Amino acid sequence: MRFDIMTLFPEMVSGILGESIIGRAQKAGIIEVHSHNIRDFSTDKHRKVDDTPYGGGMGMVMRCQPIYDCYQHIVDAAPEASSRRVIYMSPKGRVLNHEIALELSSYEHIIILCGHYEGVDQRVLDEIVDEDISIGDYVLTGGELPACVLVDTISRLLEGTLASKECYEGESVASGILEYPQYTKPREWHGREVPEVLLDGDHAKIDRYRLECAVELTRERRPDMLLAHPEIEESLKPKKKKR
Ligand code: SAM
Repeated sequence: MRFDIMTLFPEMVSGILGESIIGRAQKAGIIEVHSHNIRDFSTDKHRKVDDTPYGGGMGMVMRCQPIYDCYQHIVDAAPEASSRRVIYMSPKGRVLNHEIALELSSYEHIIILCGHYEGVDQRVLDEIVDEDISIGDYVLTGGELPACVLVDTISRLLEGTLASKECYEGESVASGILEYPQYTKPREWHGREVPEVLLDGDHAKIDRYRLECAVELTRERRPDMLLAHPEIEESLKPKKKKR
């Protein structure tokens, strides 16, 4: 899968996405991430990329020309993709969640536009963007961190990024509820013991204990998730014996 990221701060993006699991996924050829400096495409003699808003108001607005030329460069340079989606990171967009990440993981090529300052001239958004995506109901200074969040969450769903599908299927949210608490060595730390049940190797008992913990935590923090998946809580109830 190929990602092209249009930004005024390419080092922010390549720095974050070059590390850890996503960095390894790039080295393994599972994903390609190309970041492009929008400023390099400005035809202005001072390489200007923004200007004051028509109608007045605070801040600066990113201009159409450098963004459009950057986009054209990406489309011309990228190999023919059977499916491509152009996304503008924006607090006005569809709020990102696991289902959206899954949906986007089926595309071959994703182009992401990162805004800055007051945002982007609407005309170039109307011309090139398929969809706005938000990472939550708060406002950041730029689209670079949201773009990294989007690339990270899509990439970990692709085959080969994690050891197996089970790595994400059992996790919080993807499983339908929040995950149970995790423990590692040592067995006792600061007077706190690892729950006994995790130590005796009875996997049926461990699975049930973990599910009970997960359900309890979800009931406390995200009761909406349990309402959406009543079958999970139901599975803990003793089965009625058949006569
Ligand atoms: N004036 C814009 C508004 O009120 O909708 C906000 C502009 S914001 C300061 C600058 C840029 O940060 C945006 O163009 C967008 O690319 C990015 N951004 C900020 N918050 C975001 C969020 N929650 N999700 C995705 N992108 C965001």
